[in-house]
Amino acid sequence: MPPAAPAVTHRGVGGGVRSAAQLVFRSFPFPTEPGLRVFGTPDRSSPVFVTSNFDYTVRLVSRVLENYDCYLLVAPTGGVNVWCASAGGHFGVDEVEAAIKLSGIGDLVDHHRLVLPRLTAPGVDPKEVRSRTGWRVVFGPIDIDELPGWLDESFPRLVADVVTFPVARRVEMGIGAGLWPAGLLGVPAAIIGGWQAGLLTAGLAYVLSVLFAVAYPRLPAAPGLPQAVPLAGVLGVVAAATAWGSGGTVFDIVFWAVTLALMGLLIGLDFPSWSPTDVCKQQLLCFLYPATLAPAGFLPTVDEPACVDGCDICVKICPKGAMTLQDNHKATLLDPDGCLSCFACVQQCPVDAIS
Ligand code: SF4
Ligand code: SF4
Repeated sequence: MPPAAPAVTHRGVGGGVRSAAQLVFRSFPFPTEPGLRVFGTPDRSSPVFVTSNFDYTVRLVSRVLENYDCYLLVAPTGGVNVWCASAGGHFGVDEVEAAIKLSGIGDLVDHHRLVLPRLTAPGVDPKEVRSRTGWRVVFGPIDIDELPGWLDESFPRLVADVVTFPVARRVEMGIGAGLWPAGLLGVPAAIIGGWQAGLLTAGLAYVLSVLFAVAYPRLPAAPGLPQAVPLAGVLGVVAAATAWGSGGTVFDIVFWAVTLALMGLLIGLDFPSWSPTDVCKQQLLCFLYPATLAPAGFLPTVDEPACVDGCDICVKICPKGAMTLQDNHKATLLDPDGCLSCFACVQQCPVDAIS
């Protein structure tokens, strides 16, 4: 059996520094060693969990799993988080198969059941995993903090679950998203207006990015240009008025108006790609995987004759609750506006009735 990597990596100063770096540089992959992690004193019937090799995710998952006797297989997904990797085609059957082989888990347990993160559903086809490896896939809850409740009450059943974007997570994402406007505008501002202007620009970028993140679900306009253009206009006008009111020169007024308008445009256009409730719709702005498994604007359609009576997998697996069963027991897309084009329903239909 290959040696297990250290199991608990989320504590102490090292863990804090890594968390801070991963918060600020959230756009970039942070790989950790793929392979096996062992928690507690598992036996041959202990559960086997799988996750991506994004360091932050592994530490979050470890925080929960250290309370259980279990195994964790860390799949080689390029150091990218679970959802981006699976929707981008980098956390699929190949990676699950690699995790099984890398870990030697087949020698450690008598069952053949893997618990995968729910948000791997866009990339992992359970039928193919079963046929290639002999292992059965079950999907846990979306939020890792819900895992203990799911293990106690529902394991191994698939239960309906929808993705949310609570304020604490939005603030985290707002900090990560601040890097782009801070860098893209702060550096030119420093060159043109001096280091104080650069620092002020970078600081404003972070503050506005976090404020935008906090307000995001309550903004009246749709994500993208409808949010970005008014924000750019308001920020540009406020910056110009502030520069003028504080006795600035024409150069100051134009400089700050243009800088803040561009900042508003960047934040407004980029932030939706950080939101799990909108992310796959923002393919043009997706830094990691501009081409996801589903084509841009994809909406699922169900082949009713092929849809199996009594099945509701697509209804439960949809992270937005956008699918429903009709009176004739056939599935259909209930909420096209809510659909993320994530591809999970297509991938998980057992009879390939969705395209
Ligand atoms: S997953 Fe497929 S078979 Fe099941 S309800 Fe949906 S469309 Fe029908
Ligand atoms: S209906 Fe849309 S959001 Fe729901 S699983 Fe299918 S593609 Fe994803």
